[in-house]
Amino acid sequence: MKRLDAMVLGAGIVGASAALALARRGMQVALVDRQPPGLETSYGNAGIVEGNALFPHAFPKGLGRLLKVALKQTTEANYHLAALPRVAPWLFAFKARSQPHVLEEMAVLMRPMFSRAIAEHEALAAEAGVPGLIARSGWLRVYRTDKGFAGNLHERDMAAKLGIAARAVDGDEARALEPSLSSVVRHAVLWEEAAFVNDPLALTLAYTKRLEALGGRLVTADARTLSRSNGGWRVDADEGPLMADNVVVALGPWAPDVLSPLGLRLPMAVKRGYHLHYEPQGNAGLTRPILDAEVGYCLAPMAQGIRLTTGAEFAARDARPTPVQIDRVLPHAKALFPLGRQIEARPWMGSRPCFPDSRPVIGPSPQKGLWLAVGHGHLGLTTAAISARLLADLMVGTPPVIDPAPFGVGRFSR
Ligand SMILES: Cc1cc2nc3c(=O)[nH]c(=O)nc-3n(C[C@H](O)[C@H](O)[C@H](O)COP(=O)(O)OP(=O)(O)OC[C@H]3O[C@@H](n4cnc5c(N)ncnc54)[C@H](O)[C@@H]3O)c2cc1C
Repeated sequence: MKRLDAMVLGAGIVGASAALALARRGMQVALVDRQPPGLETSYGNAGIVEGNALFPHAFPKGLGRLLKVALKQTTEANYHLAALPRVAPWLFAFKARSQPHVLEEMAVLMRPMFSRAIAEHEALAAEAGVPGLIARSGWLRVYRTDKGFAGNLHERDMAAKLGIAARAVDGDEARALEPSLSSVVRHAVLWEEAAFVNDPLALTLAYTKRLEALGGRLVTADARTLSRSNGGWRVDADEGPLMADNVVVALGPWAPDVLSPLGLRLPMAVKRGYHLHYEPQGNAGLTRPILDAEVGYCLAPMAQGIRLTTGAEFAARDARPTPVQIDRVLPHAKALFPLGRQIEARPWMGSRPCFPDSRPVIGPSPQKGLWLAVGHGHLGLTTAAISARLLADLMVGTPPVIDPAPFGVGRFSR
């Protein structure tokens, strides 16, 4: 069989964007997955392309907060006791990177990536014939208390310093923007440099359809069959062996299944999250996603209904779902917005693939022809298209769109 220029393993939004970006550069590409594209983590997110993103999610601040998490009394986080021994080293590394000055450094380091995130998705969506899927709606973070709002001042100051639009409004102004929000909202911040995708699966599928139109192929295979072959790489697909000079691992939370046997051990943990859809009551509606900042969940007006998404759950990736956070946040969500009938019987679950420094790995690995686009964490929809552009620049050898150094895999071996 003909040897390809590249095969991309994993057809989530990260792999689909990468494969499309490579095909646009004239490479012969196959996008490999064990199932149809876009059905895992990339299916169920809150749809926010956070061009505004600043501080990564941080370790809980203060003993009181930590104790509440430990006692499972918080709405924004949950954990499985059995997972803690394994995740402990990751948590220590994560905590070390949650100091305020480190968060500021990270905001500056990530800015080139976030500031280009929407434009790069718009370019791919236009190429794929679905420009309307990326709506420049901004998103609204709402606060129920003066204290909660004041707690966000540091982030707004940082936004002002970096020239990111963050419009602070009072409760009435928030309700003028989103009339269905209730009077529990006392303050809000409209982050204007964000876009919304109301059907993340449709976006992934549009990218893969365009990939095929450019001559790329969708191939069904188990990525764990990856092996070196004749100076290149081989995967055993259902249709027979697939060979390529280069392979891109874009397997999201499953990346360690393929990388560890190759001797590449990366400090990845998963933060699981859940969603459920609800019908809005009567004429209620939302025009953009809402984060209930002090409670820790999002409401997003998706094609399927109002999607309620939860915060982080530390658990083994494959442990059985425990969607307790949905139960914990639901009364708060109902007090914020008139949620009606629950649409699905059971919550959806996904696993955010996270490194302790909240940055993805994008670029070459130490092994010839093995490339990485993994660990996009809480913001993989946001960063998929700009990651794809950076990866394509590095693979083709054109000047990289942003400095690749912060995303190199070498940072874990220092
Ligand atoms: C509740 C929740 C809300 C979120 N909200 C947002 C948001 O608003 N904005 C944002 O930017 N991000 C958000 N995220 C994060 C974002 O969804 C992820 O970072 C992103 O989807 C990761 O994409 P991926 O392509 O790396 O992984 P995935 O989408 O998981 O894709 C990995 C692919 O690999 C395939 N695969 C796995 N194992 C194998 C194998 N052995 N062989 C072949 N194929 C295999 C899978 O089938 C899958 O298709 C959210 C995440 C969650 C859970």
